[in-house]
Amino acid sequence: MNTENALKGNNKLCKICYSPFSDTYLVKEMMFGFRDEFSYNQCSSCGCLQIAEFPQNIDKYYPPYYYSFNAETAPLKRQPFIKRIVGNFRLKKLFKKDRPALRYLKPIDVNFSNKILEVGCGKGRQICDLFNLGFENIEGVDKFIPQEIDHGFGVRILKKDIEELKPNNYDLIIMNHVLEHMPEQLNVLKNCRRLLKDEGCLLIAIPIIAEAFEIYKENWVQLDAPRHFFLHTVKSMNILAEETGYEIRHKLFDSLSFQFWASELYKKDIPLFPEENNRLAYPVEKYFSEEEIENYQTKAAKLNAEGRGDTAVFYLFKKAN
Ligand SMILES: [Zn+2]
Repeated sequence: MNTENALKGNNKLCKICYSPFSDTYLVKEMMFGFRDEFSYNQCSSCGCLQIAEFPQNIDKYYPPYYYSFNAETAPLKRQPFIKRIVGNFRLKKLFKKDRPALRYLKPIDVNFSNKILEVGCGKGRQICDLFNLGFENIEGVDKFIPQEIDHGFGVRILKKDIEELKPNNYDLIIMNHVLEHMPEQLNVLKNCRRLLKDEGCLLIAIPIIAEAFEIYKENWVQLDAPRHFFLHTVKSMNILAEETGYEIRHKLFDSLSFQFWASELYKKDIPLFPEENNRLAYPVEKYFSEEEIENYQTKAAKLNAEGRGDTAVFYLFKKAN
């Protein structure tokens, strides 16, 4: 075994930068309140937190009522011909209107003719929303869906591994809160790089270790044990991007009041979805006043402006070989 493989196989070293760990946290499953405990190690150098062992029975923690399985998709509606011919002029106007579906795409030079792939897209809610705005060259891939989905107009959600997709084929790949669930961080980014065209962009939205982790530690809601395997810092994302052939050209912090109120619930040993028969209702009003939530939101906006919010979007551009 060569030195590199020896480092990669060593469970006592960080899987991102191969430095030793400094701290270990015992984290409970609290989204549904199983309260099973999992060890997370934090790297002494890059600060990345990672689950000590990938659970064998991970399916238990993605029950059928897990929200991303149930996100419904809007029916596809093609833009009328006249709107399609003015395409990118119309897109500029849409960006100005701050449409939620376009929020992540605003910082990059995207246009309607770009070929887009979303990795880990579930049934494809975001894909359908983007199609309805005018992105027609779009598809998704998710190996965990029961079978391939055809939404019509050539928009398909493939049930495949990303390794199986055609190389040099996409202008933009979107990974919206999926990287943290994946055990093979470097491999995923290398595979995405292979699929991107030259100068293509990989958009990664993830939780990030910042202020909220410093305050709440093992009760930080975004640890989301054991579903989140990796919690990155800005530093560990920089290393990951560098190691896999990308340049990070832009970052956007988009954390919400959620980082505070949900972590407060966990601190009080209250799960996010405490009711057996209602897995979608957060008990927000029951525990917090409107004013408290508003204060949390103001705090989140301030942290985002300082680059200290607990969720971020990274824009990784494929570097030439
Ligand atoms: Zn590290």
